[in-house]
Amino acid sequence: MTSILHIAIPCPLRTVFDYLNTDSNITAEIGMRVLVSFRSRQLVGIIVGISTSTFEKYNAKLKTIEKIIDDQVLIPQTTFELINWVSNYYHHPIGECFQAALPKKLRQQDLAELKTETYWQLELNQDEIKLGKKQQQIMSYLANYSDAISQQQIIAELGSCKSSLFSLEDKKLIKQHQQVKQTLLACDTEPSHTLSKQQRDVVGAVWKYHDSFKPYLLHGITGSGKTEVYIQLTKQIIEKGKQALILIPEIGLTTQFVQRFRQHLDANIVVLNSAVSDGDRKQAWLLARDGLADVVIGTRSAVFTPLKNIGLIIIDEEHDGSYKQQDGLRYHARSVALIRAQRADIPIVLGSATPSLESLYNVEQGRYALLNLTERATGAKLPKIKVIDSEGPTANSGISTILYKAIQQQISLGNQVLLFINRRGFAPVLMCHDCNWIASCTSCDAKMIVHQSRNILMCHHCGLIHRLIQHCPTCKTTELKTYGVGTQQLEQTLQLYFPETEVIRIDRDSTQKVNVFAEIIDEIQQGGAKILVGTQMLAKGHDFHNVTLVGVLDADQGLFSADFRATEILAQLITQVTGRAGRGQKPGEVFIQTSQIKNDFWKDLIGQDYNFIAQKILAQRKDMGLPPGGSLCVIRAEDKQQSLAMLFLTEALELLNKANQQQVMILGPVPAIMEKRAGRYRAQLLLSCSKRKPIHQLLDHTINAISKLKLARKVRWSIDIDPVDLM
Ligand code: ADP
Ligand code: ZN
Ligand code: ZN
Repeated sequence: MTSILHIAIPCPLRTVFDYLNTDSNITAEIGMRVLVSFRSRQLVGIIVGISTSTFEKYNAKLKTIEKIIDDQVLIPQTTFELINWVSNYYHHPIGECFQAALPKKLRQQDLAELKTETYWQLELNQDEIKLGKKQQQIMSYLANYSDAISQQQIIAELGSCKSSLFSLEDKKLIKQHQQVKQTLLACDTEPSHTLSKQQRDVVGAVWKYHDSFKPYLLHGITGSGKTEVYIQLTKQIIEKGKQALILIPEIGLTTQFVQRFRQHLDANIVVLNSAVSDGDRKQAWLLARDGLADVVIGTRSAVFTPLKNIGLIIIDEEHDGSYKQQDGLRYHARSVALIRAQRADIPIVLGSATPSLESLYNVEQGRYALLNLTERATGAKLPKIKVIDSEGPTANSGISTILYKAIQQQISLGNQVLLFINRRGFAPVLMCHDCNWIASCTSCDAKMIVHQSRNILMCHHCGLIHRLIQHCPTCKTTELKTYGVGTQQLEQTLQLYFPETEVIRIDRDSTQKVNVFAEIIDEIQQGGAKILVGTQMLAKGHDFHNVTLVGVLDADQGLFSADFRATEILAQLITQVTGRAGRGQKPGEVFIQTSQIKNDFWKDLIGQDYNFIAQKILAQRKDMGLPPGGSLCVIRAEDKQQSLAMLFLTEALELLNKANQQQVMILGPVPAIMEKRAGRYRAQLLLSCSKRKPIHQLLDHTINAISKLKLARKVRWSIDIDPVDLM
């Protein structure tokens, strides 16, 4: 009898692989990592099944594993089952699903051991001894805390002082011990706000059934105190001895959000996002798994973090596009979180000022309970919104005269102004006036963006960079002209207009370095007249108290887009942006520049409100059978050779048609709207159905055959279930 291990290996094949188990040191269990050789490489796989076989002929063909890495189960059963669900639902290879769910160090061969560190605390009996300055500092610092404090934190506060610590230990004034390393330094707590009646009602409603699965949509206007509600619920769940998982969108928002939790909760909090080091991520993951962290706050992939005692899931800004992964395993963290809550039998709160149509539809269908916060928590009023015709008189760089005057006025009052333009760089077009030559990317169907400060042209789709040229490459003579406005140009223009005022640009280019974002936010919080120029990166979640004026410079893009979600996203963006104004004592105002001043969209959004326009768009979607009124799946393919992607999808279509699944409508294959990107030609096949199930059945039935097509090994292809982007 030979023991066979079924192993999920990180590779694009939709199958598990059998290996012989020869490691007699460790008893193999499901959820452990093993090292195997696979196609002449050493890879880390996960044991997903164990069986025995007496069929010697079969056994003789199998390779043996190199070794078992873990001596205990790494992935707890609930997480294991969740990942299996993800693999099935998204029709994605199981090995890659495990990859997506594990922190980098655990995808490799790092041992799953918690790090410890030195903690110091005062001895109980203190003799009066004369001490040096540093030693006195340490003594009074430790006297502030009843618990032990980590050496790392003491050094962070007081500077290097190791020798002083040891001499205090010699004098028997302080003592040390080893303790599991927390990934965040301790911080001072502050008393929480007393919740308003509305906030208390929301907390009460969720708490009423906190022992069972129940999804809630918390629709609270911007500044209505949703975060305060999350904190209160988390506090209560921790008091029950349970853990909370909190998801936030993938933007610079984390610091401010986490800070508020830490100030108001006396709890072990761990953070999981791209700014956290690999070592700390692994530690955080293990702390959560072993029940040593009370709260996990993280972005999309944190949804997979195992929590021993999960009691509550919260998703902030649930409508945010960053919850959907756009490559590899294309999961939606909100969908995964819902499954997770259901299986753990716990409540899940989806919060937003601008709920997704998906969630509003689920409320309508009775699947989610709706909770409302209709007033700003500080009593501040929502700002007035004015729509300005962008074809009217302008000052410069696309700023209308009306907006310019408003900026001038707010700055003179010492207030802050926030201007949005959804385009980074200096200008989106570089063109020759004589022969109409336009700088475009050689690898994409896209224009090159002018980045004047770095003296380059850059493609925002593939990252291709060229030196900024001065003369037209075709007719050689004329000076080239830029058209359109990006954040950099706006920043320059405003700095010229307002030389005394600090102009801060916030976009992906200006915030690339770690922590820069946090520093910028700090600077903004300090107050004083400032002009902030940013992309939508700045639209979400931030709580700036001194901003009294918000301007949106290019609101039109969303009105003409071919993407069926564009108007929903625009309505959300405008509402969120609007929410950035007048959050403090002073009232706010909002100016939106559009060339479509008569478009019903503005009448609906501003004359009515987000809910009104959301319901209207939802009705249209249902009419057209589009999500959430129907279900979609996109099969995408791309290849360097123009015809191959289309050819592969045509063959896939044939197989799909053979399955004879009448309920699913299949459209395509068609080239993608931007056919060429990063040197590859892209095409897609769209599957749609009024219900979700038939699509999954069809895929289950056909996917193996598609995978076996010759071209399936040649072209890059993927399956996107519930796509958010059809472009
Ligand atoms: P949201 O998350 O809904 O945008 P926040 O939780 O950020 O709202 O709250 C907006 C502002 O109101 C914050 O400055 C917060 O400190 C304050 N706030 C929230 N709840 C209360 C309350 N009950 N009493 C006083 N201020 C509050
Ligand atoms: Zn020319
Ligand atoms: Zn490009």
